[in-house]
Amino acid sequence: MNERILKARLRRGMLLTLLLCVVIMTVGIILTAMLNRSLNTLLSGQMEQETEEYKNRILQQIDKDFQTLQTLSAFLGDYSLADSEEFAASLWDANRQNEFLIMAYFNRNGDGVLVRPDEDAVENVGLGELGGEARTAVETAYEGENAVSWLFWDSVSGERIFVYSVPVYRNGEITGVLMAGDRIEVFAGFLDEEAVLSGSGYMHLIGSEGKFLVRSQQTIVPDTLNTIYDDDYISSSEQGKIRTALENEESIFSYMQYDGKSYRIYFEPIGLNGWYLLCVDAGKGILASVYQRGQIIAVTLAGILALCLFLLIYSYRLMRGYNRQIHDIAYHDAVTGSDNYLRFCQKLDERERQRERYSIVALNIRQFKFINEIFGQQYANRLLCRVKEVIEHTLTRGEIFCRSNADLFYLALADTERGTVRRRVEAIMDEVSRSAPGVQNNYRVLMYAGAVIPESGQESSIDREKLVISVHFALARAKLLTANRVWFYDAELHKKEEVENYVESHMYGALRSGEFQMYLQPKMNLHTGELGGAEALVRWKTGDGRMIYPDQFIPLFEKNGFCAELDMYMVEKVCGQLREWMDAGITPVPISVNQSKRLFFRSSYLKDLTNLLEKYGVSAKWITLEILEGLAMENADELNEKIKKLQAVGFKVSMDDFGSGYSSLNTLGSLNIDELKLDREFLLEISGEKGERFRTIMEQIINMTKCLRISTVVEGVETPENERLIKALDCDYGQGYYYSRPIPAAEFSKSFMRGRAEG
Ligand code: C2E
Ligand code: MG
Ligand code: MG
Repeated sequence: MNERILKARLRRGMLLTLLLCVVIMTVGIILTAMLNRSLNTLLSGQMEQETEEYKNRILQQIDKDFQTLQTLSAFLGDYSLADSEEFAASLWDANRQNEFLIMAYFNRNGDGVLVRPDEDAVENVGLGELGGEARTAVETAYEGENAVSWLFWDSVSGERIFVYSVPVYRNGEITGVLMAGDRIEVFAGFLDEEAVLSGSGYMHLIGSEGKFLVRSQQTIVPDTLNTIYDDDYISSSEQGKIRTALENEESIFSYMQYDGKSYRIYFEPIGLNGWYLLCVDAGKGILASVYQRGQIIAVTLAGILALCLFLLIYSYRLMRGYNRQIHDIAYHDAVTGSDNYLRFCQKLDERERQRERYSIVALNIRQFKFINEIFGQQYANRLLCRVKEVIEHTLTRGEIFCRSNADLFYLALADTERGTVRRRVEAIMDEVSRSAPGVQNNYRVLMYAGAVIPESGQESSIDREKLVISVHFALARAKLLTANRVWFYDAELHKKEEVENYVESHMYGALRSGEFQMYLQPKMNLHTGELGGAEALVRWKTGDGRMIYPDQFIPLFEKNGFCAELDMYMVEKVCGQLREWMDAGITPVPISVNQSKRLFFRSSYLKDLTNLLEKYGVSAKWITLEILEGLAMENADELNEKIKKLQAVGFKVSMDDFGSGYSSLNTLGSLNIDELKLDREFLLEISGEKGERFRTIMEQIINMTKCLRISTVVEGVETPENERLIKALDCDYGQGYYYSRPIPAAEFSKSFMRGRAEG
């Protein structure tokens, strides 16, 4: 896998995991917040409910006291201050039973008696002697309403007290006021209970100015505090809110800080004298265990998350390390430490993307196998390392190289000028020869190199595989050169070799699968202007649809002997075609077929031919065998023998390409041929500088053939002038593109043979 892709995947995986962590964290935080909020709501409800209960208990206590006073007032109504002793005694008695701090009665004139339970003394007091708070309460009772006074300082007991006052009636009229006073601490008893918020909360009674009236003994804050605003346990912004709420007799939730912890507090107005109940939550009430469990879960989750993150980072680092190792193994050559072929290709891709021009060089060490065997692998490895060093030293910025395998090095050079590339690569090879490590037995290390310079602008379009094949082709050629030389890739030569390779390896299969096809080219009778015959020419249509022409394979087949097979195959095709025409009621024209030397001298040649004639039931007179002049060079007598035998069966024999080689009139004279085909060279020469001379030669040849009763065919008729000329020379037949190119046999039948249908 590509390193970049691997890295990207790794990064993506990490990001995804990280994202997952963040999502888990966020969900955790949201859930915790939601849980907190609902717990807080539950807690608030609990605080409100419990504070309400305490408030009711205080109010019930006050109600009870009022009822007591009202009952007493019913009895007292029958007394008058005139019977003051008896009155005072019953008042004192009543007070002792009810445990008020003081009790007093005032008549409408403001005269009264005041008793204290722990003192026997009965004070005669006037209303004017009472403190303002008590007096106001008494005056309210004069108006017929029960009243509770604000707290005030009682100088006798030295305590802060408050008083209740109820009107006293006689015969339906208010005759006086009964007053009873008590310490505010009477409420302390139930405020001190440990049941507030399941034992984790405290309840205080405070005044609207924030002053502590009754302080619960169970408290977290030191009891030195005078008001709730002292010592900044409550932040100033919260203080402001609390003040406003208290002034407006509203309930409010808030927070206070103590010892680094935050505590929830709740103020509830009692609705009397500006008194408030202050509930403090020192734990989380009944929800403390839920909170605790929640916290444990949150801490555990955070721990797991931290562990995940740690593992994530750890595995990322581990994987990166492994990745680097894999990368090293995958992209580096273990022997020299240079890039390997895979990495080289990646780098080359990058160059191509940047549209930079380059040339590719393949370097080999001569006789490397031999060096390995004789000097040992260790020495061979050192040599490879030396080659790597020399290359490395020679390359300029942006140039790349690799060791692919064995002694094969690839280079991508920024130079694209043949001379420069040659100079640089030869310098590398010379330097290796000069500095090869520990050269033993005077052995000189030599190298060879193949190079390809892609055409300008073609780099990116060239397929990598083709480039490598090309450079290897060049390398194989370079191996044939002398020491330390570069061979540059030649596309033409490569193509030729490729075709030759293809031809040789595919010829038998192609013959079996019918890839060789017969094309026909008309031979025109120049006297009548009609079709005088045709020449069968072979075409190779490969399986992948390519067309290979005879000059690409005939010379090769002549060398390897396959030509004899092919020619016989073509004779069979010709016979088949003649049969087809005859079966279709068409009068055939003679068809010429080219015959190679090997076939011509095969001992079974004549027999093979006659077998074919029999097989297809055709007459030999329709077949002209074209032979080359070269056949006569070796043994003209033997050739003549053969020609005679062929003619005896009915075949005609034609000499092809006369005039293209070292033609001699001697040959012409000595062979019993029926037809002479003048090579297209004649027509080409006649239109050239020495035209007149060639015209004379041609004229003489034709004259001679007339004497020898040999008919003449001129090849390469391409223009009306060509035709006019050969007609003027009294030639018999003309063949060439002027009449038609060689065309598939079926097409030939359609174009030239239709008019020859019998009857
Ligand atoms: P050839 O027997 O002399 O065939 C004539 C060649 O000249 C043919 O090339 C034909 O296409 C070409 N030609 C015909 N008219 C003109 C023209 O007006 N101008 C030009 N420039 N060329 C013309 P082709 O088919 O490529 O064959 C080349 C040679 O290959 C043949 O020369 C022949 O020697 C050999 N050949 C072709 N088919 C066979 C075969 O079946 N067996 C053997 N042994 N040789 C064959
Ligand atoms: Mg021919
Ligand atoms: Mg020819």
